[in-house]
Amino acid sequence: MNFFNRDLLIKSLKETEEWDILIIGGGATGLGIAVDATVRGFKTLLVEQDDFAKATSGRSTKLVHGGVRYLAQGNISLVKEALKERGFLLKNAPHLAKNESFVIPCFSWAKGFFYAVGLKMYDWLAGNKSIGKSKLIFRKEVEKRLPTIKKASLKCGVLYHDGIFDDARLALNLAQTVVEKGAVVINYCRVISLLKNEGQKICGATIMDKETQEIVEVKSKVVVNATGVFADDILKMDQPESKPLIRPSQGIHLVLDGSFLQSGDSIMIPHTDDGRVLFAIPWHDKVLVGTTDTPLKIPSPEPRALESEVEFVLKTAASYLSEIPTRKNVLSVFAGLRPLAANGDETAKTKEISRSHKVIISESGLVSVIGGKWTTYRKMAEDAMNKIMNHQLLSAKSGSTENVKIHGYSMEANKPGSLSFYGSDKIEIEMLEEENEYFTQPLSKETHIKVAQVIWAVRNEMARTVEDVLARRIRVLFTDARLAILLAPKVADIMMKELNHNEIWKANQVETFTQLAKGYLPTL
Ligand SMILES: Cc1cc2nc3c(=O)[nH]c(=O)nc-3n(C[C@H](O)[C@H](O)[C@H](O)COP(=O)(O)OP(=O)(O)OC[C@H]3O[C@@H](n4cnc5c(N)ncnc54)[C@H](O)[C@@H]3O)c2cc1C
Repeated sequence: MNFFNRDLLIKSLKETEEWDILIIGGGATGLGIAVDATVRGFKTLLVEQDDFAKATSGRSTKLVHGGVRYLAQGNISLVKEALKERGFLLKNAPHLAKNESFVIPCFSWAKGFFYAVGLKMYDWLAGNKSIGKSKLIFRKEVEKRLPTIKKASLKCGVLYHDGIFDDARLALNLAQTVVEKGAVVINYCRVISLLKNEGQKICGATIMDKETQEIVEVKSKVVVNATGVFADDILKMDQPESKPLIRPSQGIHLVLDGSFLQSGDSIMIPHTDDGRVLFAIPWHDKVLVGTTDTPLKIPSPEPRALESEVEFVLKTAASYLSEIPTRKNVLSVFAGLRPLAANGDETAKTKEISRSHKVIISESGLVSVIGGKWTTYRKMAEDAMNKIMNHQLLSAKSGSTENVKIHGYSMEANKPGSLSFYGSDKIEIEMLEEENEYFTQPLSKETHIKVAQVIWAVRNEMARTVEDVLARRIRVLFTDARLAILLAPKVADIMMKELNHNEIWKANQVETFTQLAKGYLPTL
């Protein structure tokens, strides 16, 4: 029985008289809270206005990390907490999150010693959650591990360990985890207003199903605003005069062919010209390079990289790589918005704003959870639920998510190019392939992605649009935007048949997706 079925879940949404908790937002924050609330036995509903991880949670650097940069800033408690959480995520979602070796190339021995000492502290803070010891390595080993690194004036390097993961797939698997535990989680449902009782306390929300335009009023004891950079919009629904809580900060990534790295190790550049950290990470056979920190005034669901950001990342990468990447080599460029919690100091640089999270309860009882990072999503959820129960918005119930295995849990290694990121679902996709010869065929001669994966995404992963499939179920839009455009007509055709749509739907989908995907190609 497939519980992750949108029609069935919409039916439950309509038939339930009152929920214990309604969560607005299907990113890392909202989904984490849904897991925690469900494990404690609360009747839980989560609605997402687009697709799961459409916004920031699908556009991260894909690090499960304590944050070497936060250590340099002296934010020890944040680093310690995140390292502990890193341990839980690697343990509970081994099909998506894995231990990765990072090398810091150093051009003086003094720098090498400096970073080696810092990373020893990083190891020490991880305590029994350490995933490998850091060490100072000689130039020869740096060159062996990073064959494409610029060799001139390289002196030594520092090797350390952190985690990397697939963010959008984790979001999807979290949604599946909670639905399997009895919660209702639905994409393409937007909260358009909040409901208040006679005492002016929040008691639910009005939701629009964006597929049918149907409007439904939902009652809930607690409403949680987990909308990331859009949190101020929900706060305004509660209190039109409320002050902005969010300072969005944009970060971009460029995706290059794997030949630019030729290594299973990642490069970490600890100090760029603008004082940030830059990573080059092997990801789905390609190399992800980023990121930036650009303050923005107005958040958008489809942020675009600025020319100056693309220039900056290329220039920084060029000073470390022997083969210089140019715009022509960029397979995809994507931007994401950090939902930083405003600290009242408008002049503070975004890179200096703390990445800690905040749980704020308004006078009307609206709970807003903002800031934080993917790595700490579980702890953020735990803190939010504890605060909700301490404020008696819900009666106290115990339950821990530290050992909750995430949907797809499988110890099989995350091998690039194979189906192993599906974890335990891999075997079911292989069984689906056996049903029909056509399902085993690749979508085109340029890719190994099979028809079965699109069918699986529609039937079992709540994919509703071509973008859902090509951006988040299979990450082609992020790894190769041109290939994604090429595959769109075939994917639309398969989806049209699976979802009983017509040719007009198909043509619209191809056109909409193609326009969107063009925004992932840099201007030449
Ligand atoms: C460039 C960049 C790199 C990063 N790298 C890392 C990293 O390597 N490791 C790490 O741990 N963290 C990283 N982060 C941080 C991490 O990605 C974020 O902290 C996290 O994804 C935020 O999740 P969220 O759920 O709060 O927000 P979002 O993912 O934005 O989710 C909010 C959701 O709410 C929905 N929503 C909004 N309004 C409504 C409404 N009215 N009704 C219904 N739904 C609504 C939105 O559509 C959205 O999907 C990075 C962030 C950025 C920007």
